[in-house]
Amino acid sequence: MIKKSIIKIISKRKGTNFDLEYSKINSLNDKAKLLEFQEKHLKKLLLHAYKNVPYYHRIFDEIGLIIDGRVNLSKFNKIPILTKDIIRKHYTELLSKDYTTKNWYYKESGGSTGEPIRIVQDDVYTHWRDAAERFYYVNMLNIDELSCKKIVIWGSWSDLFQSTKGLKAKISNLVKNTKLLNCLKMTEDDIERYIQIINSYKPDLVRGYSSSLYELCRYAEKKNLKVYTPKIVIGTAETLTPEMRGKIETLFETKLFNFYGAREVSGIAGECKEGLMHIFSFYNNIEILDGENKYVKEGEEGRVIVTNLHNYSMPIIRFEIGDMAVLGPKRCKCGNLLPTLEKVTGRITECFVKEDGTTISPVFFIILFLGVYEKRLFKKFQIIQEDYKKIRILIVPETSKDIPYKKDIEEKIKLMMGKDCKINWEFVDEIPKTKSGKYVYIKSLVWGKK
Ligand SMILES: [Zn+2]
Repeated sequence: MIKKSIIKIISKRKGTNFDLEYSKINSLNDKAKLLEFQEKHLKKLLLHAYKNVPYYHRIFDEIGLIIDGRVNLSKFNKIPILTKDIIRKHYTELLSKDYTTKNWYYKESGGSTGEPIRIVQDDVYTHWRDAAERFYYVNMLNIDELSCKKIVIWGSWSDLFQSTKGLKAKISNLVKNTKLLNCLKMTEDDIERYIQIINSYKPDLVRGYSSSLYELCRYAEKKNLKVYTPKIVIGTAETLTPEMRGKIETLFETKLFNFYGAREVSGIAGECKEGLMHIFSFYNNIEILDGENKYVKEGEEGRVIVTNLHNYSMPIIRFEIGDMAVLGPKRCKCGNLLPTLEKVTGRITECFVKEDGTTISPVFFIILFLGVYEKRLFKKFQIIQEDYKKIRILIVPETSKDIPYKKDIEEKIKLMMGKDCKINWEFVDEIPKTKSGKYVYIKSLVWGKK
């Protein structure tokens, strides 16, 4: 009875939270309406940024983007690319003057690449984010994510360290018919248990980090275990290599759908049944640029530049997210009107691996270094697993050369990697970039040896 009442109350709130935004998205049933919607929201955001965000006020004046209170969109591509460095340097100048009047919160940058930053988001942003996700599930995958049975393979910090903060999430999971399987650390026993849970729960939907799904499938294959076939499997958060996709699809005996998002701007694109990634252009405006900031042509690879249309607390305009993607065709056989990416090419993350086959998700380190402590620990970092029991941590320090919470960090790492794991800290001036010019801050050299 109590459970039912809680579900009723939360469902009601949930239902009303983004219904309006979702119905607006749903009404964009031809190309003209879609473009008009996108343009209207882009102009509205730019005007807001001009009036309320000191950093943009200055820049828009310099390039003449706003004249007599009207936005001249032909100057949009003159707005300098927003980098993580700029966000760090001009942080307070990038906040909207009125953000404290909104229902705001911090979001630490996650993913696996790029240096850490903190973005301010608010509940209006959240409603659009949820509406965009709902669009993907209902309109593109034809599944009601809110009511279907699902298993989410995700990194849950509170479960791992037995914090009491998980109650809200538990209630919310109950409502959403969700079973959450923690993948920050997955021993072979855990994987075995997770497969049993999937097989007995018989979910409609399985969603998880691509690397965790891959690990689960590798194990099932090794042990010759059968895995229940849900209607839909969605891989998120990381690069999906053809090998990973092949293994996941073979073991689950169903197509894997790739969802592309980032913590700074949430959902960017989702894969359709034809295999193209449709950009949620009503939510994020995406540009794919070459090395000279020119637009690439269809089939060409470039940098992903994002403008979120709905973050008014801290407008994110022409943001270099740190990924590369290949621009896809304007039209897709599936009939969806949204523009496409052929694929997202530039995300590389790797799990740490232990000798007994246990994998440690890169998300563990991301949360440990970015989300656990109140203050920001380092300017930049890179964590490299050099051998099963050897970790090297490169640090670009903020100011002084001490390592805050060193003992605590090492204890937590050893809890995951084993007591005898050696951790070497090294101060460096810069973290070396990959050939494509990206930071990779979690890297396992053991992976290739497995
Ligand atoms: Zn399509």
